[in-house]
Amino acid sequence: MHKSENFYYVEALVSRLLIDDGDFPHIQDEYYRMQAGIVGEEKLQRTLADYHFKEDAKVLYNFECINDKGFSHQIDALILTTRFLLIVEVKQISGTLFYKPAFHEFSRQTEEGILENFPNPFDQAFRHQLFLSNWLENWGIQLPVLFIVVNANIRTKLDQSLNNSPIIHLSGMPQFLEELYKKYEMVNVDLNDLANKLSALSCRLPPRRKVKVGIHRLRNGVLCEKCHFQHVMRYNRGLWVCLQCGEKSKDAIFLALHQYRILISNRITNRELRAFVGIECKAVASKLLNRLQLEQFGSGRGVYYLIPENISGQIR
Ligand SMILES: [Zn+2]
Repeated sequence: MHKSENFYYVEALVSRLLIDDGDFPHIQDEYYRMQAGIVGEEKLQRTLADYHFKEDAKVLYNFECINDKGFSHQIDALILTTRFLLIVEVKQISGTLFYKPAFHEFSRQTEEGILENFPNPFDQAFRHQLFLSNWLENWGIQLPVLFIVVNANIRTKLDQSLNNSPIIHLSGMPQFLEELYKKYEMVNVDLNDLANKLSALSCRLPPRRKVKVGIHRLRNGVLCEKCHFQHVMRYNRGLWVCLQCGEKSKDAIFLALHQYRILISNRITNRELRAFVGIECKAVASKLLNRLQLEQFGSGRGVYYLIPENISGQIR
């Protein structure tokens, strides 16, 4: 799964912020929302993996880029076929969804009866459509750019007011694609070339909204991912052990350093490492730093280590 930088940032925050921190509740809400989004995207991946595309096709998940005006685009999935390019927005909103087309107002009613407005997914997707249509025209590619909003939560009810809107339940995706195949003619297009052009356009977007957190607002320790970061792991003979669930890991430290890098700094000293992961002995920390093969800078008391960006690549 291709997760966004924003997800890693919010995940790091929610697993590290002290529970009584003032920012904790809304960060936790945001984290749950993002997790639901990821579940939705995984369901879409399974549905598309099961679908038999007629001709050549490619799917790019979580396509992110910045346009020439400096604004960002985040698209859940781009389906590239030889007949059309389909933008897929995945929604995982519970309750009943309503739409007032004349006002572009998109809302949902929770099971408790609370009515609230949501960002309009059709307008979001339309904006992506305009953007990509422009690029395809620039590249001389005559592929129609289309979009669909896919609801991945089977319990969600779509109100009649959405009748004429491009939104379907995920289970309808295969039929929707079949209809597009019937409707559109094959175009002379090199999908590898198109995928390369789109990749060149894409970039990793930075976290949306950074909360300034000092180390004093964070929980220390190597935290157990299996226990949803609730428990601190102990270091014992080269292994990190969770006393709660029994998980033993050599690599749990990578995730801790990854979170340190995201939230605090990409530099860490021996002393900072000891304080953060909870090792008292300086020699043990030195040995650990050696094993982690972090690049070392400075000299004497000014020695620090650089936590590389791809340290997360070692964990997932
Ligand atoms: Zn555990």
